[in-house]
Amino acid sequence: MRGKTGISHRLCGQGTIQPDSAGTMEFVNHSKQVTLTFDNGPTPGVTEHILDILCARAIKTTFFVVGDRLAKSGGQELAVSAHSQSHWIGNHSLTHSVPLGEKTDLEYARQEIEETQKLIAEFAHRDKFFRPVGGGGSIGPHLLSRAALQLLREGRYTSVLWSSVPGDWRDQDGWVDRCVSEVAGRDWTVVVLHDVQNAALPRLPEFLDRLESLGVAFRQDFPEEVVMTRRGDVISPLLPQIVSDMTGRDG
Ligand SMILES: [Zn+2]
Repeated sequence: MRGKTGISHRLCGQGTIQPDSAGTMEFVNHSKQVTLTFDNGPTPGVTEHILDILCARAIKTTFFVVGDRLAKSGGQELAVSAHSQSHWIGNHSLTHSVPLGEKTDLEYARQEIEETQKLIAEFAHRDKFFRPVGGGGSIGPHLLSRAALQLLREGRYTSVLWSSVPGDWRDQDGWVDRCVSEVAGRDWTVVVLHDVQNAALPRLPEFLDRLESLGVAFRQDFPEEVVMTRRGDVISPLLPQIVSDMTGRDG
């Protein structure tokens, strides 16, 4: 077991070998693949149930946590628990408020990115996964500033976007159908769900049943197309489109 917390947790999903690196591909011979991610938590009363559901199916995911939520009662323990069950822990800002591309000063970016990374240092994935706050999931220049990109490069972060944001938080009934059809239309889908109140949890088992019946293979790593920087190296041609002050538009 990885982890230095000293907290013992029940074994979960043993026998599923996953690389502890975003860049290591394991051989998977399935027609459709899905990487699940859970954003905006941890949330006591929600995250532990999601962990139980994932554990029962031996599915490993990444939790992109919000720094301020770790400070709340039970938040840190849930992140430690997820890590101990071999989920990856990534950084999803400190306050989850104004997207970095809309507030472009360096100090704001430093606080949102680096303060959170300090909070999760004990259990963060070694590739330093960071997901910008998206404001509803659209991909555009609101996501990052030039200052934020500089920090992500210097700090050797791996910044990760997504390919499906089915809207579990705004449409608890419709997100499952929407996401299943998106998964069916792609080879490898990176899905954003949310471990917060009134979001993915109630229909998560049904969603996973449907993906399993489609023969989907779950994996934990990320395809190149959603990775903007990998350990600080810029690898995505999309970057000029998601950095506000690289686009010629006002931040
Ligand atoms: Zn978010």
